[in-house]
Amino acid sequence: MSWNSEQKMQFLFTLRSKGVTDPRTLGAMEKVDRGQFVRGHFEDRAYDDMPLPISSGQTISQPSIVGLMTQALNVQPRDKVLEVGTGSGYQASILSHLARRVYTVDRHRRLTRESEALFSRMDLHNITVITGDGSFGLPDQAPFDRIILTAAAEDPPGPLLEQLKIGGIMVLPVGQSDTVQNLIKVTKTEAGLDYEELCNVRFVPLIEGLG
Ligand code: SAM
Repeated sequence: MSWNSEQKMQFLFTLRSKGVTDPRTLGAMEKVDRGQFVRGHFEDRAYDDMPLPISSGQTISQPSIVGLMTQALNVQPRDKVLEVGTGSGYQASILSHLARRVYTVDRHRRLTRESEALFSRMDLHNITVITGDGSFGLPDQAPFDRIILTAAAEDPPGPLLEQLKIGGIMVLPVGQSDTVQNLIKVTKTEAGLDYEELCNVRFVPLIEGLG
């Protein structure tokens, strides 16, 4: 399924009305058709502002939350970004239009395979997809300018904080998996870590090991 101009306009209007106002974020989201990431029964809901099921029992996140997270991450063109939780590949595709390079990790091999195929069909060549437990980060590729988690941890994982550059930003949902979580932005400075609470969210939990 691919979107027509009316669906795109409505999609961008909803994003703005939910607080996604950063022009670079909106520009990147305009380039990525969410219909390419949703299959089967839910295809006709692809442009609705709601999370939807994908394979391996996972979800593609709600577009306005993807937008708010991308906006908070404030990715710069030279940045190297790590995403934990590839899922459908939607968030990574948006990041690929904003960053120099995106590394995205998921614990489900089926999801990483499907996303990799999609990125190649979409000519997105600055994304590296890895199957693994992303809570340990990617020590070989560290440090990162930006880190985003799209699964909820009880606390920001230590290895990821270590792999964030000074001046870097991490955006993630924190809290118990079965309750409402807090979306937070962590900025690493010479003096330590600054925490900012953004909004309430509900994500699937960050789980140890491979799926
Ligand atoms: N960013 C995705 C998108 O754009 O479609 C949505 C991600 S979905 C809400 C959360 C993903 O986190 C799932 O695909 C799940 O397999 C993954 N996940 C959970 N724990 C993980 C871990 N420890 N390492 C890597 N991926 C993990």
